[in-house]
Amino acid sequence: MRIVVLGAGVVGVTAAWYLAQDGHEVTVVDRHEGPALETSFANGGQISASYAEPWANPEAPAKVLKWLGQEDAPLLFRLRLDPRQWRWGLQFLLECLPSRTRRNTIQCLNLALYSRDCLRELRRATGIEYDQLERGILTFYTDPKEFGHGVAAAALMREFGCDRDVKSVDQCVAIEPALAACRDRLAGGIFTVSDESGDAQRFTRELAQLAAARGVAFRWNMTVESLASEGDAIAGVRCFNEEHRQELLAADAYVMALGSYSPFLLAPLRVPCLIYPAKGYSATIAIEDHRGAPTVSLTDLAWKIVFTRLGDRLRVAGTAELSGYGKELNHVRCEALIRRTFELFPDAGNRQTPQFWTGLRPATPSNVPLLGRTRYRNLFLDTGHGTLGWTMACGSARALADLIAGRKPGVEFAFT
Ligand SMILES: Cc1cc2nc3c(=O)[nH]c(=O)nc-3n(C[C@H](O)[C@H](O)[C@H](O)COP(=O)(O)OP(=O)(O)OC[C@H]3O[C@@H](n4cnc5c(N)ncnc54)[C@H](O)[C@@H]3O)c2cc1C
Repeated sequence: MRIVVLGAGVVGVTAAWYLAQDGHEVTVVDRHEGPALETSFANGGQISASYAEPWANPEAPAKVLKWLGQEDAPLLFRLRLDPRQWRWGLQFLLECLPSRTRRNTIQCLNLALYSRDCLRELRRATGIEYDQLERGILTFYTDPKEFGHGVAAAALMREFGCDRDVKSVDQCVAIEPALAACRDRLAGGIFTVSDESGDAQRFTRELAQLAAARGVAFRWNMTVESLASEGDAIAGVRCFNEEHRQELLAADAYVMALGSYSPFLLAPLRVPCLIYPAKGYSATIAIEDHRGAPTVSLTDLAWKIVFTRLGDRLRVAGTAELSGYGKELNHVRCEALIRRTFELFPDAGNRQTPQFWTGLRPATPSNVPLLGRTRYRNLFLDTGHGTLGWTMACGSARALADLIAGRKPGVEFAFT
């Protein structure tokens, strides 16, 4: 089949890879001049399959209310006159019901664990390199009460097949010696030895090259304007091409992987897609000859930020702001990231030259991505991966390729 994949973030490129493996003739379209130049550019780098529970949970509404108006809050709703934001917010509240939380946790966890296996398989098959580390993820707590909640959550998540190990302060420092610098602040940690980390942008770039070598065509600087439908099928994609001319790309099937921008293309077709951008920040710090940067990927639960070693760089990422599509850097948030990093790890790297970045997570209210079929027989969704697009990309792509080929996907998941 001829298949057009819309979007060359980590999700679109992995979809293209698995579809090409099945022998399809694949074309990927993106408005940038290369892969992973939007949300997949400088994320937290964690393959955090064991931490796949959704933001929406019974405790979330109280926390969100408490954080309203607080500039450096981990999750901040900036209320706007935007009906889509309000619809998203109301649905988010519904997803906080215990029964919904349980269902969403199972969906996310199934897909994330499956995806981690697919990534390992892909790595074995291709030898792809992307500053990956298979050293687990350690979540550390600075508040004893929060640690108590973490221990209870670990017991619950073990029921779902997640290997979360509770660690004392000494054990945390033994796992990641850089934590010795902030030992007296720590209350304990939870370690997931089977989780991983790596540079999502580098991975996407390398995979795009491997895919191109196997015949996948990439059309860069090509903006998707709309999808043309005919009855129950998509007839083509209307684009502005690299020469600023209109072009209709026709294929047998289409995969929507435009991340946060997917709703704009799907709304005219009346395909439901409740995705809203959750803006996040990262700072990339050059380690140079400093000795105090962690190597095990860490999550600082109090601040909801992650630290990931990417070769000779330390990536610090986190926070979420539901405030529309603006990508301007808020200096309060940037400074907060750096301040926290150097409070915990005074010798982590060069404090003067961090590279700040912001990206728009394509978030669904439930955190469960939109993956599968639509009312159009040749249009498929692979979007809405929110906080976990890097973690879930390979599994989503593999499952989608199975669906398109008429095979049963190897993961239990509520496909659309
Ligand atoms: C601060 C931060 C930290 C994060 N940390 C992690 C982490 O540690 N682990 C994890 O698993 N996930 C993490 N994520 C989430 C992850 O980065 C995203 O889920 C993932 O990058 C989404 O990938 P995507 O391919 O769906 O979207 P994108 O990477 O945004 O790709 C969409 C593509 O569509 C293109 N596009 C959009 N509209 C058009 C159009 N009209 N025409 C043509 N092209 C178009 C864009 O150019 C873009 O290339 C983090 C995100 C942020 C912001």
